[in-house]
Amino acid sequence: MKNAIIIGTGLGGLTTALRLSRRGYKVHMVEQYHQAGGRLNQLKKDGYTFDLAPSFFSMSYEFTEFVKDAEIPMPFEFIELDPLYSVNFRDTKKTYKIFKDLDKLANEFKEVEPHFRENIDKYLDSAGKFFHDTN
Ligand SMILES: Cc1cc2nc3c(=O)[nH]c(=O)nc-3n(C[C@H](O)[C@H](O)[C@H](O)COP(=O)(O)OP(=O)(O)OC[C@H]3O[C@@H](n4cnc5c(N)ncnc54)[C@H](O)[C@@H]3O)c2cc1C
Repeated sequence: MKNAIIIGTGLGGLTTALRLSRRGYKVHMVEQYHQAGGRLNQLKKDGYTFDLAPSFFSMSYEFTEFVKDAEIPMPFEFIELDPLYSVNFRDTKKTYKIFKDLDKLANEFKEVEPHFRENIDKYLDSAGKFFHDTN
């Protein structure tokens, strides 16, 4: 049996470990902190729970592909959120809802960014090219 050592138990390390195990490797993992998960962790304080990093799946198809490749059953069902989440900026009272639908999103930000739709289309076009070139 081949051995593999993975440094770090974040999502990258954990998913790689499952993929390698599936391919017959004996996997050893090393983590500098007391618990696995890397940035995928929570902080509990004064009755509140804070996500340290990921809160939702923005690229759920990656997980679907991973589950298939690792040959494990899908451990949960995806539920699409609408709005995706909400944000508050310092010195403003409004809570902004972040929608996937760009027209709804443009409407949410119309007071601060009147050309939102035009600008987001430009941004998504260039970001999309970058994403597809590097994926
Ligand atoms: C604020 C924030 C919000 C985010 N929100 C989302 C979201 O909503 N949805 C989403 O999909 N993604 C989100 N992300 C991105 C997501 O959190 C990361 O892409 C993902 O967690 C990274 O996983 P990783 O395994 O690459 O790295 P990490 O999670 O950083 O894991 C690396 C691990 O390696 C360990 N390590 C490093 N060096 C050593 C060493 N020398 N010896 C031993 N151990 C070591 C670390 O302690 C850590 O456990 C967010 C990120 C941030 C910062």
